[in-house]
Amino acid sequence: MGSEYGQIAKLVVNRQPCVALTGAGISAESGIPTFRSKGGLWEKFDPAVYASIEVFRADPSKYWSIRGEFIRNYDTYQPNAGHTALAELESMGLLRHVITQNIDGLHRKAGSRGLTEIHGSLREIFCVRCGKEYRAPHLPEGVPPFCECGGVLKPNTVLFGESLPREAMEAAWRESSTCRVMLVIGTSAVVQPAASLPHVAKEHGAAVIEVNIERAFSNADRFLEGKAGTVLPELVAEIKKLI
Ligand code: NAD
Ligand code: ZN
Repeated sequence: MGSEYGQIAKLVVNRQPCVALTGAGISAESGIPTFRSKGGLWEKFDPAVYASIEVFRADPSKYWSIRGEFIRNYDTYQPNAGHTALAELESMGLLRHVITQNIDGLHRKAGSRGLTEIHGSLREIFCVRCGKEYRAPHLPEGVPPFCECGGVLKPNTVLFGESLPREAMEAAWRESSTCRVMLVIGTSAVVQPAASLPHVAKEHGAAVIEVNIERAFSNADRFLEGKAGTVLPELVAEIKKLI
């Protein structure tokens, strides 16, 4: 196992630039359920219903009815050793960018600066009528909560049925097509268009290294099996031995 980490550490150091693509799995150890985790939030609440733009438009109270489960806790979730390891790798000059599908803001909290949140973030909440911004968790009460102008509030996240913000998608494409190593961490790699980014990286000659508790991206060149909060600090420790 040690030598495997050593080889991958060399790959990261020697084949720069390196970019990471992360999914719900990296935040699992912060206590945020992934889509697939047993007994998790999304087993009780079908995201295709509770996080759908059509349902939101028809009846925003459905979406907001689970605010107590997730949004209210926004400030209480903290980054784990996986997020911190990526921020450290960036500060060492060995990770150019993090592309995340997560809306939990934990990469930002951990100190990652080169960051694209392609599905947006729960940090920002807007009035759909006047555009006034509110910041989680300081929101008006109510299900749904209303702005003082009477408009309904909506987090700046991409719901099912909505398209991704163009600048974010362009940044994700640019980062993926110009990196030479991509770390694919804690994503089931099925939700488009994020799922195609590792392929974009590979087509442009990057080596793809997957970190997951079970293999999800069959095209990866290397696979590090385990929890992100264990694997990533270990990889960073190996990298430190080389520089
Ligand atoms: P997913 O739930 O489909 O897949 C999670 C992946 O993480 C799985 O492959 C699983 O094996 C892996 N995993 C679980 N625990 C892990 C750990 N400790 N370390 C490493 N890997 C682990 O998530 P996805 O691929 O990100 O796609 C789901 C969509 O849902 C995304 O669009 C995302 O925006 C959204 N979502 C976000 C959050 C969040 O913001 N934290 C949480 C749930 C879902
Ligand atoms: Zn308003």
